[in-house]
Amino acid sequence: MKIQLLPSSFGESGAASGRQHLSCIVIDDCVALDAGSLAFATNEEQKEQIRDVVLTHAHLDHIAGLPLFIDDLFETLTEPIIVHASETVIETLKQNVFNGEIYPNFAELENKNGAVLNFRPVKNGENFAVKHLTFKAVEVNHGVASLGYIISDGTAKIAVGGDTAETVEFWRVSNKEKNLRAILIECAFPDELEELARAAQHLTPKRLRAEIKKYTGAPCPIFVINVKSAYFQAVLQQIERLEIENLKILEVGKIYEWN
Ligand SMILES: [Zn+2]
Repeated sequence: MKIQLLPSSFGESGAASGRQHLSCIVIDDCVALDAGSLAFATNEEQKEQIRDVVLTHAHLDHIAGLPLFIDDLFETLTEPIIVHASETVIETLKQNVFNGEIYPNFAELENKNGAVLNFRPVKNGENFAVKHLTFKAVEVNHGVASLGYIISDGTAKIAVGGDTAETVEFWRVSNKEKNLRAILIECAFPDELEELARAAQHLTPKRLRAEIKKYTGAPCPIFVINVKSAYFQAVLQQIERLEIENLKILEVGKIYEWN
């Protein structure tokens, strides 16, 4: 399994920046987990291959690129983009994004080949297939309907928490999995913004340390995702200060591979 957290902003030189504003992890170049930078940072091969988008939740930084991705591909799609998400998230997208005001209702439009957008509802606890991958949906704790996922390609398996504050089910399910190759867990804010982090249902490094102690499975790398761009340096320093050997921030743009 190959994953890549797509870039979402540019540095001073104009090259992709290591800071993460938007969330979109491309798996094996053909399935997107969240769609934050989907339209902006996918390469040509990914644009041609990605027809399945699995969403954790409907916050803007996780869906921003979805309408534009469908728009870019509208004429050339020979099969619809399938959005896999909870019923609540699908309803939120229909009401607030694909509503004919913010953007066209692509689910009701067709190109010469037929439908361009289909929604596929996902239930908490459900296992479902997306291309060659299996996803297991696990509820997390983020104030709005949010799912984490255990993702397997039949050989390698990873757990991705998405955005979440302290959570129970995600760790309970992860602990039952054998041979997890990596866990991706958020840490959006630095410790000094504890109050804001709690209000927004995100983790801080201090709370992340307590959170990852809930993992009792075989040791595996734990990667931090969804660090708020404005606080990247502070969060990075605080995570390094935890001195947890297998805990690192997932690098934007880098390809990680597990066989
Ligand atoms: Zn969120």
